[in-house]
Amino acid sequence: MSLTLSTRLSAVRGSAIRDLLTLTARPHVLSLAGGLPAADALPRARIAEAAARALADPAAAQYCETTGIAVLREVVAAHESARIGRPVGGGDVVVTSGSQQALDLVARALLDPGDPVVVEDPVYVGALQVLQAAGAAVHAVPVDEDGLRVDLLAERLAGGLRPRLVHTVASFHNPRGVTLSQERRRALAGLAERYGFLVVEDDPYGLLAFDGAPPTPVAAHGDRVVRLGSASKVLAPALRVGWLTGPAPLTAAVERLKQSTDLCGSALTQAITAELLADEPWFAAHLDGLRAANRERAAALTAAIDTELGGVRRSTPTGGMFVWLDFDGPDAPDTTALLPRAVENGVGFVPGSAFSVDAGFAHSARVCFATYPPDELREAVRRLARSLS
Ligand code: PMP
Repeated sequence: MSLTLSTRLSAVRGSAIRDLLTLTARPHVLSLAGGLPAADALPRARIAEAAARALADPAAAQYCETTGIAVLREVVAAHESARIGRPVGGGDVVVTSGSQQALDLVARALLDPGDPVVVEDPVYVGALQVLQAAGAAVHAVPVDEDGLRVDLLAERLAGGLRPRLVHTVASFHNPRGVTLSQERRRALAGLAERYGFLVVEDDPYGLLAFDGAPPTPVAAHGDRVVRLGSASKVLAPALRVGWLTGPAPLTAAVERLKQSTDLCGSALTQAITAELLADEPWFAAHLDGLRAANRERAAALTAAIDTELGGVRRSTPTGGMFVWLDFDGPDAPDTTALLPRAVENGVGFVPGSAFSVDAGFAHSARVCFATYPPDELREAVRRLARSLS
């Protein structure tokens, strides 16, 4: 059937990563492609208990407030107040269907077609898709070992660029694995004040610092910041619970847009999330377990990369889920061409080009250390090494 689709849609690139997730369904493939928490890190028994308790109240099976159930907004507000060092109230929080929906609603609330926005390069693909769908004019600023090159952003701003928003994964970057330095965070918040843009601080990984100390958010340095949080990486992606906090006019606009998008999120998974986040001893112990497992896995993966893969530079993770690889030299493989061979050999990764705003990173790749235990990670790297020879 021939169907005329919107011109906006033609600007939206498909997500190579979501396509690649089909790899994880093949039993023989060790897929380091998706950012999937380990199966044994998902607190299924605790979720089932919380669900049973929540369902004793019929409200858990009903529609709820568009902005989310009050008890969850309160617990998120308490966490956020502690993180940013300023009071945040339940009324400042909008609960969304994953932080991906928060990104979409923020983009739709702020942007008209053609409005300039800044993203990191390499970029979180889900953000790029949302911004493209909103018809934004996307400008890319590189990321180095200390995160977004805020100095280069400052040059672009001085040269006349006037973005409506700057999207950043400041802590344990997806895909690059790096963390924005505090000095750059302060500078970024200052630029937002000076040039009148909003920083979208997309922070699903901040609590996954190996040393247990989440980086001080960009929002601690200024108030032109929208913070996005998520239960996906610290509890379970299937809850589809995320949230945003930010300036009141923005949260009000987001609420209005969310009404028309899905009326409200799931009262049931919000009640479960609220119970788990509010149970401080349990949540602290759960996070400690996640961090310890991730630290051990990251060490196993990076050690295997160093011994098995020649001619590769890698990031050194201090939290989050990802290691970024750059193959160097004249024999550096094109990672997009390498992928089918790697899958044949039973290992998956995401080629760097998937995260590029304009077709760069041909010799780079993202690998996730969170999904498998150390032995399987070592086996995955051996398979990758075989694919290179
Ligand atoms: N932001 C970033 C940087 C992510 O990596 C992800 C998930 N991979 C999301 C947002 C969306 O996560 P969710 O919708 O599950 O909260």
